Amino acid sequence: MPDAIQITGLRKTYAAQGNAPAKDALKGIDLTIPQGSIFGLLGPNGAGKSTMINILAGLVNKTAGRVSIWGFDQDVNPRQSRAAIGVMPQELNMDPFFSPRASLEVQAGLYGVPKSERWTDELLALVGLTDQANAYARALSGGMKRRLLLAKALVHRPHILVLDEPTAGVDITLREMLWKNVRRLNEQGMTIILTTHYLEEAEQMCDEIAIINHGQVVVRKPTRDLLGQAESKTLVIETEGRPALPPLPQDVRAEWRGDGRLAVTYNRRALRADRILDALRGAGWPIIDVASEQADLEDVFLSLTRG
Ligand code: ADP
Ligand code: MG
Repeated sequence: MPDAIQITGLRKTYAAQGNAPAKDALKGIDLTIPQGSIFGLLGPNGAGKSTMINILAGLVNKTAGRVSIWGFDQDVNPRQSRAAIGVMPQELNMDPFFSPRASLEVQAGLYGVPKSERWTDELLALVGLTDQANAYARALSGGMKRRLLLAKALVHRPHILVLDEPTAGVDITLREMLWKNVRRLNEQGMTIILTTHYLEEAEQMCDEIAIINHGQVVVRKPTRDLLGQAESKTLVIETEGRPALPPLPQDVRAEWRGDGRLAVTYNRRALRADRILDALRGAGWPIIDVASEQADLEDVFLSLTRG
């Protein structure tokens, strides 16, 4: 697959302001994002995700590096590179006096979409705002405003849709509606880039994930490989009563859970489960049942962004 986005040596330093010192928000990002993917950009607060997205959107000027969108270098072909991408920003920024329909028309005008190529009514239907098409934006609920932001990002039918924390603080219904739309757009060929705080969501939605920390990419992998990278595993053992613990192999952590089962956590690269079970059986433990729990993306995330 050709790349939807190519980022090389991307740096951003926010200038000092008043008492706030200068801030190196991006410290040399190299990243390519393939066409057609749903790509997750994860990282703790302040990692630099929005800065990177806002540079892609042309809203923030980079300090150094190259950004190419759908094959168009941002500095060489700013108009084409901007036309290839639509961004749903993290902040709710709207003009309170425009109706959803007017907002979409204004946005289409900004992108130079001719009247005959506008799809305002379809977009309103897509995000479920047909009934509110002519209402004042300030009369819309928070969820409706977010849906309008999604529609605005799509007026010029971009190849790439970027969603910056689209589900932070939104209710379940809206979240499901968003993901349904995102999947459908992706099936129709749109490349999707999203940041989210909900790791479970990234696990379910994204083909590939890059984790950013302190302005640098710490890992970039297919979601499946990233999950495979989780090293810690837990055996949950049901026994009779609460027998004394025999000595267990080194670096194994055992603790009783509230339900009377013993949870044994170990590094699955260093140890096999049978070593633990053998140790317990050798001490005369009856083993009624064993369940195993895999580490999830959250564990990977924490181990990569710790410290
Ligand atoms: P994220 O989206 O991952 O939470 P941001 O890109 O918003 O991270 O922020 C990265 C760093 O840059 C943070 O330390 C933040 O305080 C700083 N920062 C973001 N925007 C500005 C700005 N306009 N001026 C100065 N510093 C900023
Ligand atoms: Mg952000």
